[in-house]
Amino acid sequence: MTSFIVEHQCPRCGGPAELQESDRLFRCGYCRAGSCLSVPDYFRYVLPNKAPSGKELIYFPYWRFKGMLFFCVPGQIKNNFVDVSQQAIASPHFPFSLGFRSQTQKLRLAGGDCQGLFLEPRAGKADLLERLNANLSVRLPQPILLNAQIGETYSLLYAPFYLENRLMDAVLNEPTQSGTAEQIEPLLSQARDPSWPITFIPTLCPQCGWDLEGENDALALTCPNCASVWMAKGRRLERLQVVHQPGWRPGTVFLPFWRIEADIGGLTLNSYADLVRVANLPRVVQPGWEDLPFYFWTPAFKAQPQRFLSIATQVTTCQPREEIAAGLPQGTAHGINMPVEEALESLGLILAFSVKPRPRMEAVIGNLRVTLRRFLLVYLPFEEGPHELIHTGMNLAVSKNLLSHAKNL
Ligand SMILES: [Zn+2]
Ligand SMILES: [Zn+2]
Repeated sequence: MTSFIVEHQCPRCGGPAELQESDRLFRCGYCRAGSCLSVPDYFRYVLPNKAPSGKELIYFPYWRFKGMLFFCVPGQIKNNFVDVSQQAIASPHFPFSLGFRSQTQKLRLAGGDCQGLFLEPRAGKADLLERLNANLSVRLPQPILLNAQIGETYSLLYAPFYLENRLMDAVLNEPTQSGTAEQIEPLLSQARDPSWPITFIPTLCPQCGWDLEGENDALALTCPNCASVWMAKGRRLERLQVVHQPGWRPGTVFLPFWRIEADIGGLTLNSYADLVRVANLPRVVQPGWEDLPFYFWTPAFKAQPQRFLSIATQVTTCQPREEIAAGLPQGTAHGINMPVEEALESLGLILAFSVKPRPRMEAVIGNLRVTLRRFLLVYLPFEEGPHELIHTGMNLAVSKNLLSHAKNL
């Protein structure tokens, strides 16, 4: 899988740094100050340019999308890995995609220190996904019962151009295939300043002032002093409520999961007994199961998309219901790097995967409407083996390799 490098400057001392595309936490190698990168919508980057000095740069927007698209069709679940960039303004004069440019160049965050004419996107994320889904579903059996995307990266890349007699590509410093100055000029009236807000939130515990801990791609930071957990929201850190399933012994590693309560339209799925019936699990409904509430469970850590879904399906069909205790568990806990918003997109797929036999899937997900009610972060205890982390109660093994490779997803 590809990802790109972002050149960055420490917001406190100006020291240079390089970030991975997925990094959300930055710790300066010079002054040691830590900060969380936070944007209200999505990250915007600029590609470097080799334009002659004095040329006014025109920045043209491209959507970048990387992830796995899943399609539920009668009796089957299909998937396609996609890694694309596509024009965010339909124009015959600019290259249709960035090709490999974004992977061979070092990018920068687009912000107030950039100079040039930045063109506003006219197509949004929904348009991009619609086009990708339409292209990929042509050869699939119909109808498409459900589609969803998992493990996605979604950002806006601005590529530099400039005008001589014709449109010049400023990354390569050579003319583009088409585009005269007269054709390009009408677009320029809609340019804007690159004054998008990026907030660098200091990684200090809002409750006790201690330095918060987290991996570079962490979405939540933990305080080793007061055992609180924090997430960037807008311009500040907000406390995240966490619980854990007790069960610590030497060698225990806790993995974080989102436990999601949703309103499910088009299907009766309120209790564990409902799940046994809907998914046709090989179990006989026991007294009391009608009263056990149903939750979706997904990893709160990144994993390769098919594995992410199989883990989510297994935990959801097990419905862990051991006692839970408030707060962080003691001992080793894996970082949180899967946002709950992205986990929400997988709920229909989790149901599709849990239904046996697969031809019954159509009846279950045909009219499905899932909306979030509330969620909770739950750490579950796993025993560390030589290659895997194992939850014996659920008979679930998570490969350690999977967790370390998932950092680049
Ligand atoms: Zn610094
Ligand atoms: Zn604290």
